[in-house]
Order: sequence, then structure tokens, then C-alpha cells
Amino acid sequence: MSSKKALFEAIIYARTHSPFYAEKLSSYHITEDSVDTDLQRLPFTTKEDLSERNRDFLAVPVSRVAEYVTTSGTSGSPVTVFLTKNDLLRLAQNEKASLSCTGAGSGDVFQLMTTIDRQFMAGLAYYLGVQEMDAGMIRIGPGVPALQWKSILENNVTVLIAVPSFIITLIDYAKNNGINYQHSTVKKIICIGEALREDDLSLNILGRRIRADWDVELYSTYASTEMGAAFTECEARKGGHLNADLLHLEVLKEDGTPAQNGESGEIVITTLGTEGTPLVRYRTGDLARIYTAPCSCGRTSPRVGPIIGRKNQMIKYKGTTIFPNAIYEIFDGQSAVTCYKVEVSKDYLGNDAITVLLEKKIENSAVMQHIVSDCQAKLKVVPHFVFLETDYLRSQVFKKNIRKPEKIVFK
Ligand SMILES: [Zn+2]
Repeated sequence: MSSKKALFEAIIYARTHSPFYAEKLSSYHITEDSVDTDLQRLPFTTKEDLSERNRDFLAVPVSRVAEYVTTSGTSGSPVTVFLTKNDLLRLAQNEKASLSCTGAGSGDVFQLMTTIDRQFMAGLAYYLGVQEMDAGMIRIGPGVPALQWKSILENNVTVLIAVPSFIITLIDYAKNNGINYQHSTVKKIICIGEALREDDLSLNILGRRIRADWDVELYSTYASTEMGAAFTECEARKGGHLNADLLHLEVLKEDGTPAQNGESGEIVITTLGTEGTPLVRYRTGDLARIYTAPCSCGRTSPRVGPIIGRKNQMIKYKGTTIFPNAIYEIFDGQSAVTCYKVEVSKDYLGNDAITVLLEKKIENSAVMQHIVSDCQAKLKVVPHFVFLETDYLRSQVFKKNIRKPEKIVFK
């Protein structure tokens, strides 16, 4: 199907079947021939719309809903995304294409280190994708490094699906328990939930730290429950490729105009081919660069760079804006730090105050001097520090009832 036809059909489907869009798009004239420009006149859909009018987005009778997934709640309260059986097929195809982009395929043994239950979409998507590509899947779930290693060694696992912070924990465990991780069967790690690269697409400190210890291929992915599709790096690792069959992508600058090759803006998506919860011009709040030049892998689809920041995660401090990534860089860069958590709260003057929870073992060590001077140099602010026992701190970051490491909280 041509991209114009798919986009046109997606908009008309949403307007015909979703009560929210029936109301919102009723007065707009849209034709297949001019759908690209017609789209630019359509109103945006926000996270608030989806949260406040969640059930009005449902575009099929409830009896056709096969899966109820919820958003990860990185921002705001979780919302439900409704999937039909066909949406599950779409998800499986998305993930097969996404994993294939990294060169993985039939014959690989995957180990899933993220949550698959609790209405989590990503774990389910990976599971379906691996089945679709005729590869093997071991669902260990998050945490428990001892069990992860036992399975990797017993089952000759070749691909891990994990959050990068957890790989640091996994390496730490292997070192302390005499596991010859550098010569294991693991070849690739598909990383989710956290940035792996700098703005210039080189590995960030977290990525470099993993690679310095372990000669594995790292692949970054960007996805969200709402879009039900993933942007995944190929072997060129020059941004995550768009799957143009499943999503229409706009990257919009502050003034609302489209970002050009190499420019940054907010990722705005229109879902293609979804039945349960179609979205038109959905503002993700995620800021990234777009790359439209052809990729060296031969694919011509646009790519998006690492998420530079989230619109609702800007920290305001003395007239400047700090994105969480800048804080992560400092702590990910200290090899003595294996776990930390950032808390952002308002002080009595209404400014954002930053507290960093660290492991007790580094409280009186020389590492702290490095951290303080790094903060002065790079953030122009030294956070308040609180020291906790490592096990307790880990339990506060890798929480059982949430899906991503909770590296930051806004109080
Ligand atoms: Zn490529």
C-alpha cells in the first residue's frame, strides 16, 4: 500500500470508528491526494487527551479487544491502549522487523530481561516478534542476576533484551561470582528504556561502560505503548529506523515546522493499520533528531536519534534547563557507582531541587570528590546527596511493580 493511501485510510478509520476523533476531526476535509498537507492542518492529540478521554479512543466494540495494555507511566497516570487480534499481529510483525534490523533471526536464542506481565506491551511485543521470526525465547523477566546467568550459560543464549542499567548490574554480578561473561555465547544486547547514545550518535557513558567491559553488540531502540511500533538501529547504528508501514512520523520544531535532516524536534506520530486505539498526530513529548539521508545499510526509511529529553522532564535551575541525561552521564561515568537514583522536587522558592541517592560504600571515598567537581563543571549545581545500602537502593531503582529502572522521580 502506498504511504499516502495508508495514512489516508488511518485518518478516515479513526474518524469513523473512534468517538474521540469523530468529534475532533468532523469538520476537516481530507482527501487521499492531498493527505500530506491535509494532515498538517489537523489538531494534535496529547497525552492529556488520551488520559482524560481514554475510553473515547476505543475504535472497536469491547468484545473485539484481545489485549488491554497500559502505558509505562513515565509521565502522568497510566492509560489503557486497546489491541485487537489484528493489532497483536501488527505488533508481532513490527517486532520481527525491528529485531531483524539488528541482524538477529531464526536460530538465535533470546533472553527477555524485562517484564512481560502487568499489562506491559514491550515484553509481549518482543515475545510475539521472536515467535514470528522462528527464534527461541527465554522469559526470565527483570532482576535476579544469578538466574539470568544460569540460563545464559545453560541455554547458550545469543541475544539479551534488557535495560542498559541492568547490564551494569549483570556484569558486576559476573565479576563477583567468577562467571566468564566475556566468553559467553551472548552476541547482541537489544537495549530498551534508556538512551545508549550521545546526541552525535556515539555511545554515551553508559554504553561505553558496557562495551569497555564486554565485547557485545549494543542496539538501541525507541518505542512507546501508544505507537505500538519501534524504531530500531541497524548495524550502522546511526539512529533507529522508522517502520513506515506501521507509523507516519513527523518531527516538529518548536515553531511547529518539520525538522530537516539532522535537526531536532518533538516526535509526533500517526498510527497506521491499528484497529483498537488509532492515534492521529499524537504528541509523544519526546525530543530527538531526525535523519532523512539514506542509511549505509541500504534502507531509505527515516531514522531518529536518541531521545534528547522529554518535554515534561526538564529541570529548571537558576534560569537554566537541565535534562536528566546530563545528570545520568555524571553517575554512569563513575565505575565505582553501580546504582543511583535522582529525585527532583520543588524547594520553598519554587525552584527544582535535585537529590541523588547513592550507595553508602562510596560516601567517604575519593569518588565523591570527582562527582562533586563533575557536577560543578557540567551541571553548574551540586545536588544534595543521600547515602543508602546498595541492596536497598537497587530495590528502589529496579522496583518489582514497575517496568523500567526508576532512575529519576519528580516529586
Ligand atoms: Zn540503517
